[in-house]
Amino acid sequence: MFKSINPATGEAFAEHSEHSAHEVEARIAKAAETYRHWRTTSYDERTALLAKIADAFEGDTQRLAEMATREMGKTLKSAVAEVEKCVSGFRYYAEHGPALLADTEIEMASGRAVARWLPMGVVLAIMPWNFPYWQVVRFLAPAIMAGNVGLLKHASLTQGCAQLIEEMVAKAGAPEGLFQNLAIPSSKVEPVLADPRIVAVTLTGSEGAGIKVAEAAGRELKKVVLELGGSDPFIVMPSADVAKAAEVAVTARTQNAGQSCICAKRMIVHADVYDDFVAGFEKGMRELAIGDPMAEGTAMGPLSSEEARGTVLEQVEEATREGARLLVGAEKIDQPGAWMSAGVLVDVPPEGKFAKEEIFGPVAMVFKAEDIDAAIRLANDVPFGLGSSVWTNDPQEQERFARDIEAGMTAVNAMLASVPEAPFGGVKRSGHGRELGPWGLHEFMNLKAVMLP
Ligand code: NDP
Repeated sequence: MFKSINPATGEAFAEHSEHSAHEVEARIAKAAETYRHWRTTSYDERTALLAKIADAFEGDTQRLAEMATREMGKTLKSAVAEVEKCVSGFRYYAEHGPALLADTEIEMASGRAVARWLPMGVVLAIMPWNFPYWQVVRFLAPAIMAGNVGLLKHASLTQGCAQLIEEMVAKAGAPEGLFQNLAIPSSKVEPVLADPRIVAVTLTGSEGAGIKVAEAAGRELKKVVLELGGSDPFIVMPSADVAKAAEVAVTARTQNAGQSCICAKRMIVHADVYDDFVAGFEKGMRELAIGDPMAEGTAMGPLSSEEARGTVLEQVEEATREGARLLVGAEKIDQPGAWMSAGVLVDVPPEGKFAKEEIFGPVAMVFKAEDIDAAIRLANDVPFGLGSSVWTNDPQEQERFARDIEAGMTAVNAMLASVPEAPFGGVKRSGHGRELGPWGLHEFMNLKAVMLP
């Protein structure tokens, strides 16, 4: 049984049965059977289905959003925004998919050839609880457009959301077996991965899960896309609008209660504007509206679980043991559920163990940098390389950051967010491969050279 526990109250409100080995086998068999037909469907049929799934999500926005809020604690406002983003994701591939899959003519010394995008088969997606719909849609919308078939192993915390996604896809009239949830714990994933009917796997989650899944997929020589953790830098230079940067930094650190792989986690601030930034940032973190995630005015609800909160609080203790100073917050809020306040750590020793870790909760580290070289050195001095946000109005500095920050994404004078059109993914221990845009569509496809007479 999987239990859905509302982290705002600590109460269990639903149970979901685990699929038996027999049910898992039936679902894999159904997926393989559906693929045989789906791979030959026209682009018109695929885009029509994507548009209908978008409509189904749109028509049930409130119900979907409430389930996410109850299962993992995000604010209802942000859950609604997440569902709306899913709608735009399905519509992006419905609108642009056929053009992105057009043949490419190849010039050759003799004869003609085209490069043609063909589907690959049944893809397994292992997804986390933090954006329980959007993480799935990033894989599912391109999979449908590609002519692939999807199986989902969703996080144990968000099985209610997984069922609602299945329901939306079925309501849109998808063939049975095009998308199915496997309600299994992570300990039962390996045999599924080894099954020859599954051709590839995509995982969003922790480094540990990424390593296990990549090892298992490697043994079977299956393609893997990994979107893992990050400790994104948020760099503020003197030419920036420092007050605005401090205000956005609060949202960038505390959105989704700090539980996003692309949350800004390390604020790296030029010495000339350090005091101004810290004053504004600390005030914003102190005054953050923490409360009932269902309420309109709430900026941050609880963390996803008491266990997740425990991990963050332990990390803060470790940081202070290493010499960091807690400027504000990062305290357990004593009430049922997984509540804590937003926190700011300064004077974090850059060479310490803690400075290299990802904090998956609403606690920021702030570092001081003497110049742009020091800022870039600090930004790159972690094992991760997912996102980054840089605040400067100097075009040369903007170019330096774009070139030299080791990350899959750099946002200039803005909070980083994923969008359907742009590539999303990381380098270093943040994973490999790309989701979204044409790149995400092509990841799980067979680019065939068709040599013509
Ligand atoms: P996990 O990586 O454990 O979970 C993500 C998904 O992977 C879940 O579906 C989980 O299933 C599954 N999973 C976990 N271990 C394995 C395994 N060995 N084989 C196959 N599947 C597996 O993340 P957590 O929820 O435990 O969060 C812990 C940390 O992960 C966070 O602190 C953060 O660093 C990172 N994380 C990153 C995310 C991102 O967006 N990049 C999202 C969520 C977490 P199950 O739930 O059943 O264990």
